Amino acid sequence: MDFDLTEEQQQVRALARDFCDAEIAPGARARDRDESFPDDLLPKLFDIGFMGALLPERYGGMGLDYLSYGLVVEELGRADAAMRSLVSVNAGLVSPVLLQWGTEEQRREWLPRLAGEGLGAFALTEPEAGSDLASLATRARRDGSDWIISGAKVWITNGSRGILTVVFARSGDQGITAFLVPQDAPGYSGVPMKGKLGLRGNDTAEIALDDVRVPGSAVLGEPGRGLRVAMGALDSGRYSLAAGATGICQASLDAALRYADQRRQFGRRISGFQLVQELLADSFLDLEAARALYWKVAWRHMRGERHTVESSVAKTFCSEAAVRCADRAVQVHGGYGYSDEYPVGRYLRDARVLPLYEGTSQVQRLLLGRHLTGENAFT
Ligand SMILES: Cc1cc2nc3c(=O)[nH]c(=O)nc-3n(C[C@H](O)[C@H](O)[C@H](O)COP(=O)(O)OP(=O)(O)OC[C@H]3O[C@@H](n4cnc5c(N)ncnc54)[C@H](O)[C@@H]3O)c2cc1C
Repeated sequence: MDFDLTEEQQQVRALARDFCDAEIAPGARARDRDESFPDDLLPKLFDIGFMGALLPERYGGMGLDYLSYGLVVEELGRADAAMRSLVSVNAGLVSPVLLQWGTEEQRREWLPRLAGEGLGAFALTEPEAGSDLASLATRARRDGSDWIISGAKVWITNGSRGILTVVFARSGDQGITAFLVPQDAPGYSGVPMKGKLGLRGNDTAEIALDDVRVPGSAVLGEPGRGLRVAMGALDSGRYSLAAGATGICQASLDAALRYADQRRQFGRRISGFQLVQELLADSFLDLEAARALYWKVAWRHMRGERHTVESSVAKTFCSEAAVRCADRAVQVHGGYGYSDEYPVGRYLRDARVLPLYEGTSQVQRLLLGRHLTGENAFT
């Protein structure tokens, strides 16, 4: 594995860092406090190109390599995890899945719009189907050459403020099918879910699908092969998530170091106390390991190798590391860590979702256990 970034990768990282520091970080506390959607920021995120980071230029994308994309996502995660989540669902989950499984017509219709105009959402989870995806109850039935979709989805990032949702529905005897559903389709309604613990500045929605009619050309991949589409997309989504989690590790360590250097107790800086240094050193260990793991996924991807297991390892470790690092940063801040005068409380609340979504930590361990033993312990 090569740990040297190319000049281009360094430039992409510097561009992302400057953009995040200037445009994203300053409003993060207000968006978190008010649960406000970033209407002002969205056009800037499209303009700079991050929404089409992984897409080829012919579809309006930046054509970045996989590691460069991860570096962008890490910087977003460092500045504001809510914005990281919004970008990585659009650019790291929906766009790649359309690029991989879409027909040329579907790609031409949607990819330039996802890169430059509006957000995509990815709707698997339902009120009664979370970890157990195969049990989803949303139905799609044929009506001539059209499909009619009915059901409900919950916890869908970008589900009410976007332009397109990839909806997974049970399609009769054919199993589960993925559909491209425009968010302005009659019968589609997305309602923002308020009161989240973290990621309060992005759109997480409950979706009602009330006899939504889509043409046969809206099927993504083949009818009945939707779970294959979903699983491939999650390899990429989990990579994004691992990179974003690494950003929280970095932000947490930076904040803890700054505070430890400035805070004095017992007549000296708290950074001089061994037990505070232990907190800092442990977060440094987590950060270095997290970054190496998501970079490893990137290298495999760029060599054209599968990375399902590596994405799962990186997702699990990086998300749990982000929770640990943010928690240590709160500890270093003492009582001040418990208020939003400092950002570390937000880091902890934002990090807490990472071991919960795109496959919980328990689900990841079951996947890894199955990989190691060949035994399926899911049911
Ligand atoms: C902020 C946010 C954004 C989200 N964005 C999206 C999105 O864009 N698209 C989308 O489709 N979903 C999204 N989700 C949903 C997320 O992926 C699910 O919440 C997650 O998959 C877990 O499902 P669940 O909440 O139903 O929990 P459950 O599956 O009910 O799990 C509850 C607990 O039981 C454990 N558990 C379940 N099965 C097993 C088992 N076999 N063995 C051991 N333990 C088990 C779990 O690990 C967990 O601890 C989002 C969630 C949140 C909170």
